[in-house]
Amino acid sequence: MYFNAGFVNNIFPVAMPSFVTHLESAIDGTRLEARRIQTMHADRPLWVRYDLDRVREAVSPDQFASRVSSMWRYRELMPVEDEASIVTLGEGMTPLLKCERLGHHLGLRDLWIKDESQLPTGSFKARGLAAAVTMAASFGIKRMAIPTAGNAGGALAAYASRAGIESFVFVPVDTPIVNQFETVQLGARVFRVDGVITDCGKIVGQGKERVGWFDVSTLKEPYRIEGKKTMGLEIAEQFGWRLPDVIVYPTGGGTGLIGMWKAFHELRELGWLVSENMPRMVSVQSDGCCPVVRAFEAGERFCTFFENARTIAMGLRVPAAVGDFMILDAIRESSGIAIAVSESEILDWMKLGASMEGISTGPETAACIGAVEELSSNGWIGENERVVLFNCGALQKNVDLFDGVIPMFNPENEADWELLTRKCLP
Ligand SMILES: *Cc1c(COP(=O)(O)O)cnc(C)c1O
Repeated sequence: MYFNAGFVNNIFPVAMPSFVTHLESAIDGTRLEARRIQTMHADRPLWVRYDLDRVREAVSPDQFASRVSSMWRYRELMPVEDEASIVTLGEGMTPLLKCERLGHHLGLRDLWIKDESQLPTGSFKARGLAAAVTMAASFGIKRMAIPTAGNAGGALAAYASRAGIESFVFVPVDTPIVNQFETVQLGARVFRVDGVITDCGKIVGQGKERVGWFDVSTLKEPYRIEGKKTMGLEIAEQFGWRLPDVIVYPTGGGTGLIGMWKAFHELRELGWLVSENMPRMVSVQSDGCCPVVRAFEAGERFCTFFENARTIAMGLRVPAAVGDFMILDAIRESSGIAIAVSESEILDWMKLGASMEGISTGPETAACIGAVEELSSNGWIGENERVVLFNCGALQKNVDLFDGVIPMFNPENEADWELLTRKCLP
């Protein structure tokens, strides 16, 4: 079991210096002071930069294994300065699962799923928000707000409540009831908006002055990337500091793809990688909302707003991302690709992943399975390449998608027993 008290008292017995040197504008490289609250520069996101020479002297990769089993084991590559200020629910170090059966079905010998569905609040939004709330708390912020397609709201609510911070969450009116329920239960003040996530984002922007909250929207503060970056650090450690050939990522705001690509660069600069080979980054969207794919195919660095965005994969329903150029740069720099899959097949792929491997796969992951199917059959991914796809949110968060009818079983009824002898394994 994992207790926060134990974490704070025992895991980091000495003070934790931060190795952060500064923040850097992702659009024009301007340097900004890190020891104060920063949001964006020229309306675009910021990178957190570290003194990697000092990190290399302070820690070596073999030391991580004996540390806390959470993303905070990589503390030298995280922004936090004071161990007592870490706001945690034990997030991180999720299983990396080899998928032989699904791999065989997709024509791949070395397929893995990083199962982020096991994180607090059932999605990988926990990583980014644990980092963002930790930093906000250390800056003395008392009130935070977020627009969300679903999972980010629940995660903010959880970490804000954990830190004693007030949280406000704005959701599109058709957000799954599970997300609304958990966010309310976890202590946020939740409001529904007649629109999509970008409409919710405008309200959060307008409320900064009027209500005095801190805007923790995707990439509008620098630390959610640092939390999501730990997915890349974990994969590296779990594979013995050798990165996979291909990473398949369902892309909404793109924080995870951007964060992992940053992590891989930091690891390479630290000299911690056994091989210098970097993965090809695959960005997956639904054809019902695919601004990144359109920009990628058109050779553009920025996305155009995607009108009438529609997909059952709520995590992918982001018609415009403020970090669009960071996503597209990472894809291109890695020799990767952006691919849109058919919205109408997502439910089938979802069942495939879950029933073949027993992993709680959501619709965003289903889209990734569809993408791998296509990229494997057209030869873009080779049979022997090591492929990691992300299961970003739990199946259970999508109960709204269940429209089946479970048959009744009556042991007195012989016909029901006869039913069991059909459709079963020999
Ligand atoms: C947020 C979310 C995504 C998209 O993640 P980004 O890093 O914002 O691109 C995908 N799947 C699920 C389940 C999500 O909650």
